[in-house]
Amino acid sequence: MKFAAFNWNGFKSIGRVLETEKVVERFELPIENYENDGVTFLIDRELPSCVETIPLEKITLLAPIPRPSRNIFCVGKNYHEHAKEFSSSGFDSSASKGTVPKSPIVFSKLPETVIGSGQPVLIDKNVSDAVDYEVELAVIIGKPGKNISRDKTLDHVWGFTIVNDVTARDLQGQHSQWLIGKSQDTFCPMGPWVVTADEINLNDTPIKCWINGELRQDSNTNQLIFDIPEIIAAISNGITLKKGDVIATGTPAGVGIGFKPPRYLKPGDQTRLEIKGIGVLENPVKGL
Ligand code: MG
Repeated sequence: MKFAAFNWNGFKSIGRVLETEKVVERFELPIENYENDGVTFLIDRELPSCVETIPLEKITLLAPIPRPSRNIFCVGKNYHEHAKEFSSSGFDSSASKGTVPKSPIVFSKLPETVIGSGQPVLIDKNVSDAVDYEVELAVIIGKPGKNISRDKTLDHVWGFTIVNDVTARDLQGQHSQWLIGKSQDTFCPMGPWVVTADEINLNDTPIKCWINGELRQDSNTNQLIFDIPEIIAAISNGITLKKGDVIATGTPAGVGIGFKPPRYLKPGDQTRLEIKGIGVLENPVKGL
């Protein structure tokens, strides 16, 4: 099943997306139940009743989790070809510079970075002139847990969505720790909705990104260095994962910094990210 958060007639709502029929079934729910948590309010609950069916073209999508309750966990350098392109870019300040990491590199993005499909990524040229895109499969945790063994990790996954881990490369390099370069306002487009875990084949899921219609990233989740069970086992090692936690699992090769010269985002660009089985996340880029 696919669940979306959206604006309809000036009101925030959540509902179930029936993509083939191009409609969303709006749920009968008071907004205080889902204003920040979005569709993760539905975890472990019976589906609310549908009050009306609305054509998808008439709603304005919001991020499926408008304000994640904690920083968004992210994994860096987690596709083989991307690890090579990033290590040779000159902006890699990670300890495993020049090599495939021995353990997952984990950092986070602030919850306030999150925007929905269709909302603009904002670039302030006085802050950064090296803003890059990164298509990523994001895991949504449904069942809390700590010290989760690899064979049990997928029991804790409720669903998946797409994240664009937008990054100011100059700030990422300058500060060594990646948080500032990764957490600029609007730097986490998320969506278009969440797909429940049963609908994704982690061993063979194409992941792609186009900039202005040009295919830049074209890979598959079978190219991950650390697969999703490994990532969840590593992050939950001493940290209690909670319902609604988001884990962005890394980006494949083809980011702007991988080109010579680099091809960064600029105002007027259109990003289009697609993961098979989830959908398409599209955002314009605007200057401040
Ligand atoms: Mg990333």
